[in-house]
Amino acid sequence: MNLEQSKIPQATAKRLPLYYRFLKNLHASGKQRVSSAELSDAVKVDSATIRRDFSYFGALGKKGYGYNVNYLLSFFSKTLDQDELTKVTLIGVGNLGTAFLHYNFSKNNNTKIELAFDVDYNKVGSSIGGVKVYHLDDLEKELPDDVTVAILTVPVGAAQAITDRLVSKGIKGILNFTPARINVPEHIRVHHIDLAVELQALVYFLKHYSNEE
Ligand code: ATP
Repeated sequence: MNLEQSKIPQATAKRLPLYYRFLKNLHASGKQRVSSAELSDAVKVDSATIRRDFSYFGALGKKGYGYNVNYLLSFFSKTLDQDELTKVTLIGVGNLGTAFLHYNFSKNNNTKIELAFDVDYNKVGSSIGGVKVYHLDDLEKELPDDVTVAILTVPVGAAQAITDRLVSKGIKGILNFTPARINVPEHIRVHHIDLAVELQALVYFLKHYSNEE
């Protein structure tokens, strides 16, 4: 994301990819404009929030007309740096890691897993989903400087030591799928996704809130 976005609230910034994906679909189906109500229905964000989010980019919509799809799309594309490819590495080619290598975020054309690391010699040297797997011992040697993001899918006990090495190597962001709460210097961004916790939270909500609106 570019510099201008430092002024956008983080909650808004997190919704941008959601808006962008929906607008791309609208554009592909030939639609020229969209109302905040339609957007709201599709992305499941209330329309007041959408209008407020969009207002951070200057009032982009007109009353009774809605938003111009082309305009929004080019705006989001620029804001999200869609033209710039972010190179990613994945550490830990287990079940989850292997799934990510096959998936490789192919629907996003601005992020790509370039290479992976593991300690298992059965995996080192192989290529999964077109991504080569290196030994973790070679991290410092093999990880190119232009790879700025790492996905961590290693066992919990290995997470911090690998994080420290990634940070020393200049990684800027980590998508952490391990349950470990990893420590990083302030300038490094960590997003933590614990699938087990998310699933438990969903089940809890279904049990306790399913009768409420
Ligand atoms: P699998 O069935 O392949 O073991 P898993 O997801 O159940 O997958 P995990 O024990 O979570 O297994 O390990 C995930 C991956 O991380 C494995 O491929 C393992 O070889 C690898 N791994 C374990 N320790 C490290 C480490 N220190 N550095 C890098 N990768 C590691």
